[in-house]
Amino acid sequence: MPELNNAFEIAQKQLDECAAILQLDKAVHQMLRVPMREIHISIPVRMDDGSIRVFQGYRVQYNNAKGPTKGGIRFHPDKTIDNVRAHAAWMTWKCALLNLPLGGAGGGVMCNPKEMSKPELERLSRMYVDRMSEVLGPDKDIPAPDVYTDPQVMAWMMDEYVKLTQRSQFGVITGKPLAVGGSAGRSDAAAMGAMYTIRQAAEEFGVPLAGATVAVQGFGNAGYFAAHLVSSMLGSKVVAVSDSQGGIHNPNGLDVEAVRKHKAQTGSVVGFQEAESIAHEDLLALEVDVLIPAALENVITGRNACEIKARIVAELANGPTTPEADAILNQKGVHIIPDFLCNAGGVTVSYFEMVQNAYMYYWDKDVVYERLDRKMSASYQAVLNASKRFSIDMRKAAYVVAVLRVIEAMKLRGWVY
Ligand code: NAD
Repeated sequence: MPELNNAFEIAQKQLDECAAILQLDKAVHQMLRVPMREIHISIPVRMDDGSIRVFQGYRVQYNNAKGPTKGGIRFHPDKTIDNVRAHAAWMTWKCALLNLPLGGAGGGVMCNPKEMSKPELERLSRMYVDRMSEVLGPDKDIPAPDVYTDPQVMAWMMDEYVKLTQRSQFGVITGKPLAVGGSAGRSDAAAMGAMYTIRQAAEEFGVPLAGATVAVQGFGNAGYFAAHLVSSMLGSKVVAVSDSQGGIHNPNGLDVEAVRKHKAQTGSVVGFQEAESIAHEDLLALEVDVLIPAALENVITGRNACEIKARIVAELANGPTTPEADAILNQKGVHIIPDFLCNAGGVTVSYFEMVQNAYMYYWDKDVVYERLDRKMSASYQAVLNASKRFSIDMRKAAYVVAVLRVIEAMKLRGWVY
């Protein structure tokens, strides 16, 4: 049978496995298997040459039993509805796992932002909100940044919503720049959260992090900060990083800040002088203590999982490991910190941002990090305990904890019995 690579089918398969462990009622299982609501829009945008291009956009509100839905918006040429559904499902489990009073959603636009000018991106961002405004709101559904969307895009979207509603509801969107209601610590929140879980995993499995070797796939927002934090805060050695154009490797350790500067100047990590180039597949197979996939889905597959030599795989990206690869890694004894636990720092600080927007009172960075650490560490422990209690791997354990919490909310609200 060909390996599953449709992100939503993978998300459903993961849920099915959890349903089997928990012996879920059929109707409850079915409700959790499909999105509560999805919106498809066409987005006409005036391009700089005067022509009109129509883009396809989506928003999937997966489950709001625990509160208003929340999830990123991705601008990507390969963004399919199934991809959005998968992200919306994972957001549901992620918010529940972190004990946030939120449901899960996801969104996206099929476009290639690298080929668009800044004014074109602004018009696209504003029109997305125009077409979606009825279903968005701080008490309905709150978007955030994801791949190829950034704080500037969030600021345009927030501004459009404020204009449409004539109310300064900055909490309609998170991941905003600091000057317009963003939270301190939001930009590196996903990576900081991952670092807290890596620290817990290393302690549990006796991997000393000072001097430990780390490879990071993807050197974007999440990947860069992960590389920066593991080297600057944990004292680990980042030996390889990559982006869409290729990878670089230096067994003695890379100067992460120098790599960042090189990428800012040239557009890629490729060509960085104090390193050899390395192919995407070879980076994944490096003999390192910690591997951090921080790019896209389905990069660790049944084909390459047996090549993975890392002791800990910290899934900063969403859905980097296929179910087939999952089974192989677990059999090899690799400790996986599953995506919706590992990268939950982003949504957790997004939630902190919503709270600060509502109170119009902003916290210092230290307060944000301290509260984030508490939430991430408690969630890691909850997953580890479930893993031991049910004798299941960490991903299944994360599902068990999260799904039980969503079901509890659905029961209390009288949706299921
Ligand atoms: P980003 O757009 O800032 O970075 C993505 C990076 O991946 C880019 O450097 C790109 O060049 C690289 N890339 C693309 N294809 C690649 C390939 N085949 N091999 C190696 N690198 C490749 O996006 P981001 O915000 O850093 O998100 C990355 C992942 O982390 C996504 O899965 C996202 O859902 C997840 N995530 C991000 C956040 C956040 O707050 N940024 C939070 C949670 C999860």
